[in-house]
Amino acid sequence: MLPLHARRAILAHWRASPNPFCPTIEMLLSWSSQETFTSIGGHEVSEFVAFGQCGRRVHELRFWAVAIDAMPDDVVPLIVAHELSHVFAWAIGNHANEKIDRANLKLWGVDQLSLDRWIRNSSLTKLERIANKHVNRG
Ligand SMILES: [Zn+2]
Repeated sequence: MLPLHARRAILAHWRASPNPFCPTIEMLLSWSSQETFTSIGGHEVSEFVAFGQCGRRVHELRFWAVAIDAMPDDVVPLIVAHELSHVFAWAIGNHANEKIDRANLKLWGVDQLSLDRWIRNSSLTKLERIANKHVNRG
């Protein structure tokens, strides 16, 4: 999915980390710095939490387990590629932003619109209910 030059840039960025456990990739029920959004790809939506997020100079990738659980298998790689595009943007010296990510994703042949569509059509209320169920179980 990702072109060789992108994979090389991402690996070089992670290898340069002083942290021997880089990258860290987490699947979480929530996290304190989880962002919220009110639009997806220019479409206004009711507020939703980030399904994926990068942190610590893109050395950390976090995914919202609730959304990943609910996603069809063919959508999951799209959100992984999306987060990797943030890593790539950072690795080549561009401060990550959604505009750069979308341009890269398009070049990589990743259908961001499918991901956007799935996120827009997913029911956050339903997802939150699933989240609460997970939290209550623990
Ligand atoms: Zn993004």
